[in-house]
Formats: sequence, C-alpha cells, structure tokens
Amino acid sequence: MTIDFNANYTLTIGGRGVAGAGAFPVLNPANEQVVAHAPDCSRTQLDEAVAAARAAFPAWSATPIAKRREALLAIAGTLAANVEPLKRLLTAEQGKPHADAMGDVLGGAYWCQAMSGLDIPVTVVEDSAERKGETRHVPIGVVGAIAPWNFPIILAMFKVAPALLAGNTMVLKPSPFTPLTTLKIGELLRGVLPDGVLNIVSGGDDLGPWMTSHPGIDKISFTGSTATGKKVMASASSSLKRVTLELGGNDAAIVLPDVDVEQVAEQLFWAAFRNTGQICIATKRMYVHKDIYEPLKAALVAYAKTVKVGDGAEQGSQIGPINNKMQYQRVLELIADAKDKGYKFVLGGEASPGPGYFVPISIIDNPPEDSRIVQEEQFGPVLPLMKYDSIDEVIAKANATDYGLGASIWSADEDRALELSTRMAAGTVWINEAGHLSPLGAFGGMKQSGLGVEGALEGLLEYTNTQTVYLKRKAPVPAAE
Ligand code: NAD
Repeated sequence: MTIDFNANYTLTIGGRGVAGAGAFPVLNPANEQVVAHAPDCSRTQLDEAVAAARAAFPAWSATPIAKRREALLAIAGTLAANVEPLKRLLTAEQGKPHADAMGDVLGGAYWCQAMSGLDIPVTVVEDSAERKGETRHVPIGVVGAIAPWNFPIILAMFKVAPALLAGNTMVLKPSPFTPLTTLKIGELLRGVLPDGVLNIVSGGDDLGPWMTSHPGIDKISFTGSTATGKKVMASASSSLKRVTLELGGNDAAIVLPDVDVEQVAEQLFWAAFRNTGQICIATKRMYVHKDIYEPLKAALVAYAKTVKVGDGAEQGSQIGPINNKMQYQRVLELIADAKDKGYKFVLGGEASPGPGYFVPISIIDNPPEDSRIVQEEQFGPVLPLMKYDSIDEVIAKANATDYGLGASIWSADEDRALELSTRMAAGTVWINEAGHLSPLGAFGGMKQSGLGVEGALEGLLEYTNTQTVYLKRKAPVPAAE
C-alpha cells in the first residue's frame, strides 16, 4: 500500500469513513510545513460515534472471547502489513526517526498480539451444598480513549487491545498534533472489525472535554499530562465514569559508583534522550555518585557528540525535532531559565535556527535540586546531571516529587540494587536499564503520575466491571418414604 499524504483523511464512525465538519492542519515538526489536513469532529459527529459504539456493544460483548482474540490478531496483522507507509506518515507528523516510528507501529501490533493471549478469570467464591458464588468480570460498555502525541500508535493500542478483548467498544481520539496515522489505521481496519466496535475521531481542543463529559461514554482511558489528567478526572466524575489515567513523570536515574562508566554511558544517554526526551518514562533527572561524576559526564558528552539530530525522514537521524511549537517553547523556556540562573551547560543549550522545532542535545552540569529543570517534567532533550554522595539522601531526593511513574538504579551489585528498588516511590523500577515495558507487566504511576494501570491482567480488568453472582441451590428433594 502507498499512502498519499495529501489524501482525504476521514473519521471512522460505525465502520464508515466520514468527512469532518471542518478540517485543521497537521504540521511536520521538522520543517513546519503542512503534512495534511485532519477532519475536525463536531459535537454531533461525536454523538454519532458514541451512538455507533453503543449500537455495536451488545453484539460485541456477546461475541465469544476467542473471536475477540482473533480481532486483536487481525489488528496486529494490519499494522504489521502496513508498517512501511504508516511509519513514513508517523515520522512526517510526529518527527521521530523512521526506525522509531516503525517501533511505534510494530510495538502496537505486538501489544495487540500479546494481550490477545490473556484470559479473563472467573473466581469461585463459594461452593457449598446451599449455594454457588462466582465473581466475573464483565465489559463496561463504551470506552473513550484519549492518546498523546509522543507515541501515538503504541499508546493507543495500550487501550484498544484490552478494551476490545474485554468486550467493550471504543471511541478513540488521537492528539491533534498527531492524528493522521491513527486515522489511517482506522481506515485500514474498516471491514476488519465489526462496524462501530472501534470509532476514531480527531478534532480540536473541545473534543476531549466533550468526550470526558459525554453521557454515552462509560469509561475514559487517558494518557497525557498530569494537568490534563486532573481535568479529565473532574469532568468524568459527573457521571462517575471509570477512569484510567497514565500521566506525566519525572523519573530519576541513580547511578552507583560501582558501574562500568564507559559501558553504561550509552544506555544512560538513550534512557534520557530517546524520542527527543519526549517519553513519559524517560530519565529526566540523573543522579551520579561523586566518585564517577566527572568521568561519566565526560562519557555522556562524548557519546552525545556521535548522535545525529535531524529530520526523522533523513537517513541516519537518531533524534528528531520536538513534536510541536507549544512543547518546543516550553523546552526553550526551561533552557532560558537555566541560563538566567547561571547553570553550566556542558553540551547544547542553544535552539537551532529554524525551520523546525529542533533543540540540540543539552546536558546541564549539577544544577541545584530546587531548579526548574530538576523539579519539572521537561519532556525534551535537556538533561540535568547531579552529583550525590549519600545513597539515603539521593533516594530521598528521587522520591521528593509529586510524580511517581518510573525510576532506575544502575549498579554492578544486583542484590543491592534490588534492595534499593524497594525504597523507590515509582510504579516501575528498572535496574541497569530504563524504559522497558512488557504487555504482561502492569504499568502505572504512583502519586500524581496516574490512576490505575495498563498492561497485564490488572490492566485488562480495568476495562471490566466486577460482578458477583450467587446461585442458591435448590433444596434437596426429600427422599420418598
Ligand atoms: P496532553 O495532556 O496535553 O494531551 C493528551 C491528550 O489529551 C490529547 O489527545 C489532547 O488533545 C487531550 N486533551 C487535552 N485537553 C483535554 C481535556 N481538557 N480533556 C480531555 N482531553 C484533553 O498531553 P501531551 O502533551 O499530548 O502528552 C505529553 C504528556 O503525556 C507528558 O506529561 C507525558 O509524561 C505524558 N505521557 C504519559 C504516559 C504514561 O503512560 N504515563 C505516556 C505518554 C505520555
């Protein structure tokens, strides 16, 4: 398949392609040129998408789970079969290098395939002469899924796979910065899934709030910033919608003095800078023991100088631009603040001349703990590197944040690192790596990094209501005299 970037992008409502009530431009962040126009879903069209999902729910929820597994495998197959054009489209609207865009699409396929193997358990809670009781997990209804722009496909599939497997139907909204690949996937899946099971809508700033307050939506699954997550929860409360919130993070990496500096420098670099630092679980603060601080800093800088920043569509680019102007300006503001305060950049710190939202790889040398670049989620290629002495003190610093998404510990002593992991206030703790996620491992944030989890049986069950059924057994018929 070839994808015409200028093609008419349409909403998917009830299995049909529907033109938007209006259209909005989607920019390529590498050159600020319009990639294409995306359909702008009106409130009435959202009502139609919700109605289509509601209409599809009775049949889909009654479909045997074996068939729903097949549907997930069909989604996986469709993504994999079209990865080449989808990857190019994703790079054009998101900015990430082709190889990473491929990872996003194939990661989504892998997630669907892996989640398709999960079972929804039934637990017998009572089995006596009088009664049988069992707890089941039944689908909730219509799920409204809201995705961010950093990993548009895999993060959407984090929601699509468990929601559909559990028997729900869905209205999915991609970010207005990266709607095109998701819309195209919606088009490819027409006829693959029963009509109305997966509806895809794109639009402006009103569309998300319309979804979170929509009376026909039973659950909201949201991935995005903590600030928006709070609004989502407040809005969803009006009808007590179920919510899963995957929000921001400010992950600390703690590097112990026993590491092999040369060996870990490259891994630490990518923990912080992959996807231009725009990963919820990117390392956003790096604490390095004072004994290895200088050599590790030098190794990070040396490695960073070998990495190519450029248009993701260009051969050899390893780090692309920031995805959108708003985020670009936010990262520049954090850089300006660091400069105003006199912090030292050992690398970067200057915005590249346009066009394109490029920020060079930037490393700040030991800024104070209370600096904005340490305390705030930068979501860009600017890393604060801090020197520590005592492990107790650095763990306290790592945990002294309202975020609690991920953390990593780097040490040659695995037992010690495992012991330290029990002291980290984060939903995921990595040892000697960062950022790995498995569809079979529950992923979620502590504190203000989220509510609920995605992945694994725990994540699947978030797309169900718990129902317990008691059967009073018939009284035994008295034996005939
Ligand atoms: P964002 O919160 O600005 O937007 C996320 C989505 O919400 C978009 O689709 C947007 O259109 C929609 N939205 C915006 N306002 C809304 C509202 N009032 N009601 C409903 N929907 C609304 O986030 P972003 O900038 O797209 O993504 C970056 C953030 O996402 C970062 O903070 C990052 O850490 C976080 N993130 C978290 C995870 C995770 O799994 N925990 C994964 C990726 C990104």
